[in-house]
Amino acid sequence: MAPRDAFFFEPRHPYTVMLMAAFSHNPRLRRMWSPPEPLPSAETSVVACPYLSRCPLAQERCRHERPALRELAPGQFARCHFPVRP
Ligand code: SF4
Repeated sequence: MAPRDAFFFEPRHPYTVMLMAAFSHNPRLRRMWSPPEPLPSAETSVVACPYLSRCPLAQERCRHERPALRELAPGQFARCHFPVRP
């Protein structure tokens, strides 16, 4: 959740950045933000972060602990253990 400009121009959630990169004409950006291989099992993602299987920034903590909703900048919120820095 974020004000419109922050959401589009300073996204902090990795999945948001990944979705925006998918529309980019820059192949390096698309490669950098593509889903990891191999994908973690769906069973694990049910009990942890729902983006685990597709997130390029996922780490071990994301498998076991659901991220809390945090305010990362005024009015900008995300559920992520490792949000993207602006
Ligand atoms: S908590 Fe982990 S898996 Fe979930 S979006 Fe953040 S970095 Fe990715």
